[in-house]
Amino acid sequence: GTGATVYDTAALKQLDTAHHLHPFTDHALLRQRGGARVMVRGDGIYLWDSDGRKIIDGMSGLWCVNVGYGRTGIADAVYAQMQALPFYNSFFNTTNVPAVLLAEQLAQLAPPKFGHVFFTSSGSEANDTVVRMVRRYWDLMEQPQRQVIISRRNAYHGSTMAAASLGGMAGMHAQGGLPIPGIVHIGQPSYAEAGQGMSEAEFGIKAAGWLEEQILELGAGQVAAFIGEPVQGAGGVIIPPPTYWPEIQRICDKYGILLVSDEVICGFGRLGRWFGCELMGFQPDLIAFAKGVTSGYVPLGGVLVSARVAEVLVERGGDFNHGFTYSGHPVACAAALENIRILREEKLVEKVAAETGPHLKAAFAGLALHPLVGQAETCALVAALDLVRVKRGSVHANERFAAKDAVGMICRGHMFDNGVIMRAVGDRMIVAPPLVITRQQIDEMAERIWACLDLTL
Ligand code: PLP
Repeated sequence: GTGATVYDTAALKQLDTAHHLHPFTDHALLRQRGGARVMVRGDGIYLWDSDGRKIIDGMSGLWCVNVGYGRTGIADAVYAQMQALPFYNSFFNTTNVPAVLLAEQLAQLAPPKFGHVFFTSSGSEANDTVVRMVRRYWDLMEQPQRQVIISRRNAYHGSTMAAASLGGMAGMHAQGGLPIPGIVHIGQPSYAEAGQGMSEAEFGIKAAGWLEEQILELGAGQVAAFIGEPVQGAGGVIIPPPTYWPEIQRICDKYGILLVSDEVICGFGRLGRWFGCELMGFQPDLIAFAKGVTSGYVPLGGVLVSARVAEVLVERGGDFNHGFTYSGHPVACAAALENIRILREEKLVEKVAAETGPHLKAAFAGLALHPLVGQAETCALVAALDLVRVKRGSVHANERFAAKDAVGMICRGHMFDNGVIMRAVGDRMIVAPPLVITRQQIDEMAERIWACLDLTL
């Protein structure tokens, strides 16, 4: 609009501190730092805070605002649906128009053999649904002893009890009695961490081999599924070597184990394909999604179900005793339909593959020359920088900081104060900008990042 709204930032911060409990936040520390920054508006890749400062949102909110901020088309679709029918459930033999249309649309967009979708409101609920689906599948297959789901250390699959158990975050497992039984974790395919003395291609095969070792240790007859993010996101943008996923697929096929792709971050264009598994070269049996399906405008998630599982679960499974009030929420589905229409019309997925992904790669190759940066890694529209104490030019020879979290937080603070949002996972600095970012805006973002790295030195 023209007239800028004036906010009483101090009062908002004070109220927030007094009453609002934030996810994954140390509130004593937040209070010490003067409270949370208040975001009030967005347009494209930019955010404005309550003091009127303009910020590049290098993280698309939480990896979700794929079509960028300020899309009035989504607001209009939501408004129209709210007026027509704000809510009706999809339990007990009812459905609604946006849910039907979105289910059909997703079946078209998903890889071949995916014909069905189960809706949730979040990625966590999607992954809880995955846990119940794969175990139900094996019950119906009369192999009820196949219960164990294999996941990876440092994976992030959500915050509900089952999803956080699937996840491999030690800090989460240390609280609240996690993980639930029947979930085991293997190592993540981090070449920097575990690939010393071998090529990336060799390391990809070796890291996938950890899955086979785990299967043999448990006994193949006990294993229900393997789940992984095509590129691990919250765990620090771990981009596997190209050999990794095809080898994981081969191992799952060999032992008849279901393969689940958590596409909550990678889906809907982040990796320059509609789904990340397409780039990584594997064909999962189930796909969990959320975030980018609505670009975060309204909460929505779900599980895409391939023919292998649908034939058992849908065709002869009887009741699946699972579901949420908001499964197939008409307003969320209407937002998703418009979001997908925009992604298609503006060819944003193709643009990531052909234009912005390669440009981000080049920009980050430039940032890798900074004395504080040990290496830069990118995969389509996700990128990471490793901060190092001493740079020796190779990922295994660089000297990392002893206090990883501290330097990452300092760097993140400088970014935040100088108009660009990056995420810090320890001392690994991450961006995953909206898919609408232009080449020029990538350059603008990279310049600000360089300046903030100078401040961090
Ligand atoms: N799976 C992945 C790969 C994620 O990155 C996330 C959230 O960051 C989730 C699942 C959980 O999604 P939600 O926060 O919508 O429950």
